[in-house]
Amino acid sequence: MKVGLAVGHSRLGDQGAYTTGSYILSEWDFNRDIVRRISSVLSVDYKIYDQYPAKSYVGGINYLARKLVEDNIDAVIELHFNSAGPSASGHEWLYWHTSKGGKKLASILSDEMSASFPDMKARGAKPRTRNQRGSYLLRKVRPVAVIAEPFFGSNEEEWDNINHNRGALVGVYARAIERFAGG
Ligand SMILES: [Zn+2]
Repeated sequence: MKVGLAVGHSRLGDQGAYTTGSYILSEWDFNRDIVRRISSVLSVDYKIYDQYPAKSYVGGINYLARKLVEDNIDAVIELHFNSAGPSASGHEWLYWHTSKGGKKLASILSDEMSASFPDMKARGAKPRTRNQRGSYLLRKVRPVAVIAEPFFGSNEEEWDNINHNRGALVGVYARAIERFAGG
């Protein structure tokens, strides 16, 4: 079992959304820190993807898809955070609607997040179909794939809580990967 830890918005010139409040970070900056921390506690073999040398969104995903095959990755998580109005909240985990493995990994991630952050709203493991956000990555890559949206960076209180509990978020990912790898 080998997992891919992919930092969302790893295309040059793309940082993703930004957090709000007194401490502003992009999705890419935040999640690059998180994947490094995950990798330092993981007992499962892994590879980090944090640079997609491509000009377009589709080109970036096509690059990632090729690398995942070359590297014999069994499951990949692309890390993001959500952004919407200031009161939107909660965590969600996206998978391709026909992927049993994707559903399983997304459900484990959702469960671990709910256990570690019981006061947060659980939006759940969510199937994606064509033309929905994230669907191209989920459809295109060969391994089991999940897009992680563990909080809303646009919600100041939620971001503050996550930012001060990064270790707990890292633990969520690490335990979920190890549970998934263990069958
Ligand atoms: Zn994103």
